[in-house]
Amino acid sequence: MAVSAMWQPELESLDRAPLERLVVERMRATLARVLAEPAWARRLPGVRPEDIAWVEDWRTLPFLTKEELRDAYPYGLACARPAGYRRIQMSSGTTGNPILNPYTASDVAQWAEVMARCYVTAGVGPTDVIQITPSFGLFTGGFGFHYGAERLGAMVIPMGAGRTGLQLRLMRDLKATVVTAIATYPLRLIEAAREERFDLGSLSLRVGILGSEMWSDELRARIERELDIRTFDIIGMTESGGPGLGIDCAARAGVHVWEDHYYPEIVDPATGAVVPDGTEGELVISTLTREGLPLIRYRTHDLTRVVSRGRCDCGRTSLRLDRLRGRVDDMVIYKGINFYPRQIETTLLRHAGVSHEYQVVIDTDGGGERMTIHVETDPGCDPAVGARIRRELHDALALSPEVRLCAHGAIERAQGKAVRVVDRRPRQ
Ligand SMILES: [Zn+2]
Repeated sequence: MAVSAMWQPELESLDRAPLERLVVERMRATLARVLAEPAWARRLPGVRPEDIAWVEDWRTLPFLTKEELRDAYPYGLACARPAGYRRIQMSSGTTGNPILNPYTASDVAQWAEVMARCYVTAGVGPTDVIQITPSFGLFTGGFGFHYGAERLGAMVIPMGAGRTGLQLRLMRDLKATVVTAIATYPLRLIEAAREERFDLGSLSLRVGILGSEMWSDELRARIERELDIRTFDIIGMTESGGPGLGIDCAARAGVHVWEDHYYPEIVDPATGAVVPDGTEGELVISTLTREGLPLIRYRTHDLTRVVSRGRCDCGRTSLRLDRLRGRVDDMVIYKGINFYPRQIETTLLRHAGVSHEYQVVIDTDGGGERMTIHVETDPGCDPAVGARIRRELHDALALSPEVRLCAHGAIERAQGKAVRVVDRRPRQ
């Protein structure tokens, strides 16, 4: 494969030795910045920026947890006085305070820069028409894609979330070539097109940039086939400054992380020890250029592994992570067996006529636990597929769920991210 275009080739293809020197320099600057704040100085007693001589020295610093960021609401661990902020973005969980990320002017510019890199990595350029379907608001998706597109000089259709019928119409009439979305949103587009007899062949789409939730390789293949596009997996979270932490490239050999902006580590979720490259563990992210809310060794709960630190076929040298395989807290324990929803999705989507709409319901029945997988199937799908799925799940995971096939539309659609597991067991 030919070396592809880059937004900032001098940084994206920097050799590892100078790259690591730059990382160390920025680690020290980040430490100096946070240590000027009393709340951080209390968290990091005795730490001095000059003690970081090598990237590995970073491992001596304590982790930063989601709970600490929640407890710090609103500005407890932020590092510019409120007058220095230009914007907040926010993520809300199901419990406790939301996590706020305040952005300085420099943070907004940094966001645009990493997003422009992501677009170019996906083969998107100034002549493209980009339809942005994540919401514009406190959620980081909409604005991140917008800033990157402006930096790139491309045309934007700032749709935001919902109104799927209108999305399709504008996509066709304005000849959108790129769609950016939460990973399962293209499924809504495909479904709406089917219901409204809208011809997906009338679209000019060629690239999808998708992220923000787990999507299996099987789901990816379906989206690419039905929309006739090439998809790219973008990662990032509110805490790190939104999407733009990294993206996979045309070589599809892992997700490049912009190492001059972010320092990734993979740790054993139980012990916190850094694991060898290639071993799956929890992603820990430090920011190297963020001002408003710098992160030092933030535990993301996302599961992945380092694929390579070598130069990629695309010419970039930044480290590559495996596509995110789910979250530590997505793990379901059922009758003593641990599994992740993606393992079920992978099994389901191998069968013809089985839809990507499924839900795993776990409840109790007469004192015992019971698992039911509801999955939508196409009209005319072989009814014996349920028994085959059950047998495969038993062979692969030792699970024996009841598999219930249902018609299209039977499973309730989520407004945002898909709900794959409904656990109705009483809390212990
Ligand atoms: Zn690459």
